[in-house]
Order: sequence, then C-alpha cells, then structure tokens
Amino acid sequence: MAKTLENQALHLLGQVMNDSKGENIVALGMVKNINANEGKIDCILEFDEIDQKKNEKIYNDAQVALREIPGITKVNIITTYHKENSENDRENVAQVKKSNNAGTSKIKYILAVASGKGGVGKSTVAVNLACAFKSLGFKTCLLDADIYGPSIPKMIGVNEKPSSDGEKIETIDRYGVSTMSMGYMVNDENPIIWRGLMVMKAINEMIDKVNWGEADIMVIDLPPGTGDVQLSLIQKINISGSVIVTTPQDIALIDVVRGLKMFEKTKVPILGIVENMSYFLAPDTGKEYSLYGESKTKDIAEKYDYEILANLPHDPLLMEQSDKGHPLTDLVPDHKVSKIFNELAESLIKRLKLEKLSNTS
Ligand code: ADP
Repeated sequence: MAKTLENQALHLLGQVMNDSKGENIVALGMVKNINANEGKIDCILEFDEIDQKKNEKIYNDAQVALREIPGITKVNIITTYHKENSENDRENVAQVKKSNNAGTSKIKYILAVASGKGGVGKSTVAVNLACAFKSLGFKTCLLDADIYGPSIPKMIGVNEKPSSDGEKIETIDRYGVSTMSMGYMVNDENPIIWRGLMVMKAINEMIDKVNWGEADIMVIDLPPGTGDVQLSLIQKINISGSVIVTTPQDIALIDVVRGLKMFEKTKVPILGIVENMSYFLAPDTGKEYSLYGESKTKDIAEKYDYEILANLPHDPLLMEQSDKGHPLTDLVPDHKVSKIFNELAESLIKRLKLEKLSNTS
C-alpha cells in the first residue's frame, strides 16, 4: 500500500517543473526520498541553487502535487541544499579567497559570537550586543550566519523578505541595526540542511550579495560548534575577534574548549568568554540565586588564559521579550541585564581596537 503511495507521489512530482532547467524535478534528481505512512508523506527535495523565488515555487508546486494523493492529510517536505564539487565550483572557491572581504570591506570591526553547543544563549547575546553597540553610537550590522537554524528573524521580529534589485540584497533595519539572515531568504518551516559547497555559497551570498555598506561593527551569530560555516567565514573575511558564549554547566564547557581551540588554530583572536545564565535574577526582589552550583567556567578560563568578560543572569524578561521579537537592551536600556550588555559592548570595543593596533604595529 505504502509503496503504491510512493509511486503515486513520484508520478505527481514528475509533473513539477524546474522552469529554469526546462525539466521536471524527478528527472533532475531533486527528489531524494519519499516516505508515505498513515496518511502522512515525507519528502526530501534537494536544491543546488539559492534562488528563493524559484525554490519557493518548486516547493509550493510539490506541496500541491502531493496533497492530490487520496488519503494523504499531511505533507512534510524537507529542503536540502547540495552541489557536487565541479571544476567551476573549485574555481569559484579560489576566487572567493581572492575576493577578500568584498561585501564587508567598509566595516571596521567584525565580531563573531560562537558557542560549543546550541541553546546556551548565543543568539540572544549576539542580538542584544548588536543593540548595545548601536546604543553606544556605533553603526552596527548583524549577520545571522546560523544557516542551519536561523533564530535572529524571530528574535528581532522580522517577517518580511529583504528587497533586491536582482544584483544586491538590501539589509533589513531593526532597532537601528542593519540585519541579514538566511531565514529571510529561504522560506521553510523545516530545518534547512546545507551540505558541501552550498554552505560556502550561502555564506558568500550573505557577504557579497548583501549591501552592507559602511559600518563600525558587524556582529556575526555563528552556528554552534565548529563546522563548514566557521571555516567558510574565516577564509572569506577577516574576523577581528570572537567571543564564546557558555553556561556554567559542565557539558557546555567541554564544548567551549573545543570552540576556543578552533579559533586559536585559525588565528582569530579570542577576546574572551561570556557566561550566560550564571545565576537567576528574581524579577521582584532583584536578588541573585545560583542556578547550577559552582561554575566551572573560571577554571577553564584560567587554564586557557581567557578572560570571562561578562556573567549574564537567567532573566525571564530577557527570554519573554526575545520570544516577542524585542531585544531587552533596546526595550529597557536601564535594565540590569541591558547594563551588563552595554558594559560588555564597551569592553569589546576596547579589545577590538587593541587587536587592530597590535596587528598594524
Ligand atoms: P543559542 O543561540 O545558543 O541556541 P538562544 O539565544 O536561541 O541560544 O537561546 C535559547 C533560549 O534561551 C531562548 O528561548 C532564549 O530566549 C533563552 N535565553 C537565552 N539567554 C537567556 C537568559 N540569560 N535568560 C533567560 N532566557 C535566556
């Protein structure tokens, strides 16, 4: 029974055209997997180009086609991006290295916000830091390079698509910060799977095709861990410095050390560690409570000679406003947490300036 459904699905998808290639998506090998079970159909579609409009049309056509199957009530299409390494691609990669900072050349400092694992508050720190830099008077950009799970659009309340003249893509301005995220460009509620050279392509698009213009500082929200995005960015642009976000829990700390080592190897200066959710800040009394017992961040920082630049509390308002798309540093600038972000931003600017001086002297 299920097999027949899968054959039916394949037949219907065979009528979905990829207009620019003049061929249907089955013949082009874009349909990677179909699985039908109890009224639900899962399908993997693989794209080799980041063309939002075109891909969206194919995605929607495939949805419509699969819904035609009698008995199917749920269609789940997962999008992946992958391209085989061709001669052409290898040339493109070589050019990327030569193009040297094309899209971000007018930005003075580039700060990467990294973490060993997800869920430690890396994006929260990136967004609130960007707003803090802006409130200190710096012209600020924010690049959400977490292409696998872009969370910045939600955190700053962006639902619209960036405008483009076909050549350059315009940033979206929120809270006085120029922002860009892969979440603006690909329309998909499912996690996006990027593989191989498509990762580099996605990063290149966000650096070169975006009209970043002039700015004092760019904050980059990296994906957690160490992977292709980090390497692509390091190859492509000069990252002035990085901060590593962690929580006091042991598991995150082990990963953080791995993160630190990667940056050391690639010669991106590590400006320090930000410990998030270090303690709980009671909203009614302002009293501080320890959450995880003794933190191990200090031991690691000492062992590897990195400074802990800030200890951020677990704060319900920070989370609540983040979920609503409003960074706390912008909403309540004199909140205790906002003040910590402002101090962190000031300290980072000083460190970035010192790094620049030591590189030019
Ligand atoms: P990451 O980018 O590391 O995956 P996020 O920044 O997306 O983590 O944060 C994960 C969740 O934790 C979000 O719901 C966020 O609002 C919440 N969060 C992060 N930092 C704090 C904090 N200091 N206090 C309260 N909630 C926080």
